[in-house]
Amino acid sequence: MQDRPYLLFSDHLKELFGCRIHKISVDAGWGCPNRGGTRHLPGCLFCSPEGSGAAGIKRGASIRDQIEDGKEVMVRKYKAAAFLAYFQSFTNTFAPVSELRARFDEALSVPGVVGLAIGTRPDCLGGEVLDLLEEYHRRSYFWLELGLQSIHDRTLSLIRRGHDYRTFLEAFQAVKKRGLRVCVHVILGLPEEDRAMMLQTAAEMARLQVDGIKIHLLHVLQETPLAELFHDGGLRILGQEEYVGLAVDFIERLHPATLIHRLTGDGPRDRLLAPLWSLNKWEVINAIHDEFRRRPTWQGRLYPEK
Ligand code: SF4
Repeated sequence: MQDRPYLLFSDHLKELFGCRIHKISVDAGWGCPNRGGTRHLPGCLFCSPEGSGAAGIKRGASIRDQIEDGKEVMVRKYKAAAFLAYFQSFTNTFAPVSELRARFDEALSVPGVVGLAIGTRPDCLGGEVLDLLEEYHRRSYFWLELGLQSIHDRTLSLIRRGHDYRTFLEAFQAVKKRGLRVCVHVILGLPEEDRAMMLQTAAEMARLQVDGIKIHLLHVLQETPLAELFHDGGLRILGQEEYVGLAVDFIERLHPATLIHRLTGDGPRDRLLAPLWSLNKWEVINAIHDEFRRRPTWQGRLYPEK
């Protein structure tokens, strides 16, 4: 494992399983409360037609076929042998429990799949769903990926999340009571957020001692409500240097034990409108590493000691 100034999720997986674990994104065909059951509503400002899912998925195919397709690519590219099935697109607890169970079981039955990552929203975690997720947590390697984006209600309303911070907090506490591992998704560069607001989100994630965090950069994609705002000139886009500084500021404030699942996002090349510098993902990641060395600093350096 490389000596890093922060805890990288993929390093953790390698240590846990003794080999590199590859995530394969799938689309189970479900909708989202914000997009409707048939995905016809515009949803969050940044939501793409794929419901913030990965590009290149064979949508409409069975979960098994989608995973087998993903495996083929990973085996060819990396000689991969072990996988997490990532239910990424749309809201993956927005369906009857029997249907959720059938799709999750299907994923776990594919050879080489060692666990599940389930992406969802805080307002789709009722009692029956929590019972089900707890069961998968007990019998598989399981992560719940919970979309939040910001702790600020003004921002959540501006980006049309359709839930407030209290809803997130209540869901998070309910899920943690069941012992599940939770990875929270946040976005840096949301409309009308300044540095202080973003770092308040970091401090709150530290207070909650979230198990994992995905730090995204706000991407403007074609065919999203955000693209209209961008074309009207009503959106400030972060520069690379600014993002790098913010990402390091953010990680310095996190709890030292939180696993970093992602340091930046990589939007689909053919539909990304801004920021175009983010297409060079490795340049961004290397710049973040350089900034850690330059300060020098590390994850949790500014986490308050009790
Ligand atoms: S919660 Fe996710 S799927 Fe639903 S509208 Fe927002 S980004 Fe899209």
